Amino acid sequence: MLDHLIKGATVVDGTGTPSYAADVGIRDGRIAVVAPAGTVTEEARTSEDATGLVLAPGFVDPHTHYDAQLFWDPYATPSLNHGVTTVAGGNCGFTLAPLHPDRPADADYTRRMMSKVEGMSLVALEEGAPWTWHSFGDYLDALEGRIAVNAGFMVGHCALRRYVMGADAVGGQPTPRQMDEMLALFHEAMDAGAWGFSTTQSTTHSDGDGQPVASRHAGRDELLALSRAVAVHEGTQIEAIVAGCLDQFDDDEIELFAAMSAAAGRPLNWNVLTIDAAVPERVPRQLAAAERAREAGGRVVALTMPILTPMNMSLGTFCALNLIPGWGEILGLPVPERLEKLRDPDVRAELLRRAGSKEAGVFRRLTDFGRYVIGDTYSPENEGLTGRVVRDIAAERGLEPFACMVEICANDRLRTVLWPMPTDNDPASWALRAETWQHEDVLLGGSDAGAHLDRMCGAPYTTRFLGDCLRGRKLVGLEQAVKMLTDDPAQLFGLRERGRIEEGWHADLVLFDPERIDAGKATLVHDLPGNSPRLDSRPIGITAVWVNGVETIREDVVTGAVPGTVLRSGRDTRTVSTK
Ligand SMILES: [Zn+2]
Repeated sequence: MLDHLIKGATVVDGTGTPSYAADVGIRDGRIAVVAPAGTVTEEARTSEDATGLVLAPGFVDPHTHYDAQLFWDPYATPSLNHGVTTVAGGNCGFTLAPLHPDRPADADYTRRMMSKVEGMSLVALEEGAPWTWHSFGDYLDALEGRIAVNAGFMVGHCALRRYVMGADAVGGQPTPRQMDEMLALFHEAMDAGAWGFSTTQSTTHSDGDGQPVASRHAGRDELLALSRAVAVHEGTQIEAIVAGCLDQFDDDEIELFAAMSAAAGRPLNWNVLTIDAAVPERVPRQLAAAERAREAGGRVVALTMPILTPMNMSLGTFCALNLIPGWGEILGLPVPERLEKLRDPDVRAELLRRAGSKEAGVFRRLTDFGRYVIGDTYSPENEGLTGRVVRDIAAERGLEPFACMVEICANDRLRTVLWPMPTDNDPASWALRAETWQHEDVLLGGSDAGAHLDRMCGAPYTTRFLGDCLRGRKLVGLEQAVKMLTDDPAQLFGLRERGRIEEGWHADLVLFDPERIDAGKATLVHDLPGNSPRLDSRPIGITAVWVNGVETIREDVVTGAVPGTVLRSGRDTRTVSTK
């Protein structure tokens, strides 16, 4: 007796081979049978006719920050709605564990850091998670049995440092004894099932006090020692961020990534590779890290997004504009002073000069303010401006675009929501993306789902990409597109028996309508603990999602089931060696 039978679906199995019509039966969490359509005679408790629909393996999102959200939202929305059945968390050096049992204040420090670096609402972090754990294993256990998706977690370098070094973690170097303690703590976390090591060395990451986060103070020896520790645990890996990820690596960064990966003998993935035909030197430079790693006996994999992620900006709250050299000081001032500065033509001229300079790197893309679209506004003076382009308003008012934008935002006490139009939506950039996706060390990902919640909405990249492949630019065929969202990431992480539709494998499945599959427009909703806002996007054309054989979504409604597994290294992942 089958638990469920999906009849006559067009099966796209994740391997990249041509689709075929089949019946797929589920039993005890596994794919029990895959047979030509109409041939399965075994009885099933429930069944459905899926003629005309595509059945694919559930999607694997390799870069999320669902570490906290899973506690108040076990369904990992909106990822699950968009067909994602497995997520990787604990990225970029930031995890909620381990926490030192003798220093309860460390939890507060961690929440304020997460709020700052990953744009998570502080209230949601405080009210939405229990904070009952100390060890990394405790943290994993706290999620076990309570989540609708499968989730695996890296150990964040910042948490390791904080645990062992306390407040010295910011600014200090570990003594030999502290280094040993850090390593012991890290081994213990991997024994409990952590996926490996994550760190940030990026200049964009500061804690709640505005200081560089703990991992940024680590030297090369520390990074390599932790990387070597990864090597002795089965099914582990590394994830790391450096300043050059945003634009172009310097030589030291390339050497560091190659050395860390080689020391671990495991793949290291980083995000996010921005592909823009206007900067043709970037892709070869960033992929030089992959080449160098291969020479050194490692493997460095770049994550890149197959969609242009909707992202909003603001002069009122912390966002990417704060990261432009010279802008943080002004945008960090209390609102009245900030307004005064922004209205000063000399200050504006200096800000624009810095924004256009080479040191602004990838942020230069954000500084064509004429191409900003006005989002939500909050004052009578700004009525009617929502949806309009700054360039047009500026022309009507006889103002320079940035000055015009400042005046609009000033009316709202800087609360105005701003949407920069993407600068890299040209055919040449899309052609370069399609070409870059073919590279063996490039993987789709970098959604940052669960982070930057009110600012960007990367989670729906799966459905939007499929829609684009089927009915839009058609840069990749359906079978290949599905492989890029399923088997490819599953292979990088060494997931055991996930990422394909194959008899005996875990029944992580998504059923969708190829005529309609897409992601809806990103909109702001207030549904986080404490009513904090986040961007949401509804899927279009997703019929159902199963995790471990259990239906979790039907017609965009969560069923309430929580069949997800906390994926433990070794047990649920095998080693993907680079040697
Ligand atoms: Zn991240």
